Amino acid sequence: MELIWRYSRIKLYILVESRVSELNLPDLEVFMSKNFTFLKDVILDQNFDVPKECWIASRNQYNVECLFDYVVKKRFNRIVLTIISEDIYLRDLNYVFGIGVPNAGSVISTFRLENNIENLHKVILHEIGHVFGLTHCQSPCSMAPSNNIYDVHQMQASYCLTCKLKLNKWSISQV
Ligand SMILES: [Zn+2]
Ligand SMILES: [Zn+2]
Repeated sequence: MELIWRYSRIKLYILVESRVSELNLPDLEVFMSKNFTFLKDVILDQNFDVPKECWIASRNQYNVECLFDYVVKKRFNRIVLTIISEDIYLRDLNYVFGIGVPNAGSVISTFRLENNIENLHKVILHEIGHVFGLTHCQSPCSMAPSNNIYDVHQMQASYCLTCKLKLNKWSISQV
């Protein structure tokens, strides 16, 4: 397996808003490389400015689809992970912790994650799992669906074996 991963071309571009205080960027890089050993390189940019055009005053929130379109244009040929501190919503949902779009990228908000790094790690695993081809999973796993912070508390901070195998298969298919 390691031999195959060595040839992986998957590059990750991480954009972090400077106000996301609970995150230590070198630690994030280690976290990502450890959980996704197939990543070829991880590029960090910690000075991301949230685009004002995605702010919806009537909701007092950012529109996550608008943010996603904005960051995907900046990603060049990489997968993009964006982490911001402002509250985000998706369509008719009151809020979301984040979204993950297969083979494109993810936008995550720390706003409702209680300033807690473990909650943020779980949401990163979940949304990046979607980006890397995983769907929701009913086992104890980071891919369990979560609609509120209590679900995040219950969520495992790692993938189940089935999801790990799927992730592995996905990474090989990208070579
Ligand atoms: Zn999900
Ligand atoms: Zn799973």
